[in-house]
Amino acid sequence: MRIVKYPHPALRYKCKPLARVDAELRSIVQRMFELMYAHKGIGLSANQVDLPYRLFVLNPSGDPAATDQQMVFINPVILRRSGSQEDEEGCLSFPDIFAPVRRPNQVTVVAYNLEGNEVTCEFQGLTARAVQHEYDHLDGVLFIDRMSPGALLSIKQELAELELEFAGQRRQGLIPDDKQIAARLRQLEMLRA
Ligand code: ZN
Repeated sequence: MRIVKYPHPALRYKCKPLARVDAELRSIVQRMFELMYAHKGIGLSANQVDLPYRLFVLNPSGDPAATDQQMVFINPVILRRSGSQEDEEGCLSFPDIFAPVRRPNQVTVVAYNLEGNEVTCEFQGLTARAVQHEYDHLDGVLFIDRMSPGALLSIKQELAELELEFAGQRRQGLIPDDKQIAARLRQLEMLRA
């Protein structure tokens, strides 16, 4: 398992609901947490690791020792959003790129946890920001889509560099073509539908 970087097509994939929680899913979640901590992130979505599922993990502290702050969201739905906040935001699929993004300050989310129980929670501030960022990923929406034209302009060069890097890796045969990526995601999706 590895984190895919912009503009990998998996990041634009609309993830599909998971039908069950089992040992394999628990092991996927475990590996996602490990990758997230290794890259000093606070959240990671399934399509960021090239998996087509409505699943993301979060630890707002970013501290692997703070296991009490680890959260798993399976088939999440945002029920309510309110308020407004603007802050610098980053994404593990856009290494070293940070820019301001405006989002609601408070969200209420319902999701299944790893025990298969439905849980409703309210979050605010940084955690609400991270929840919305990861939730967007599941719909194929990226933080660059939420930026003001000015913020987007400020990172234009870095985005162009990521696009060049991706094209280079493709030419070297390190990344399959769009059709192969889509076919693999659909196959994985059917395994867990
Ligand atoms: Zn992200």
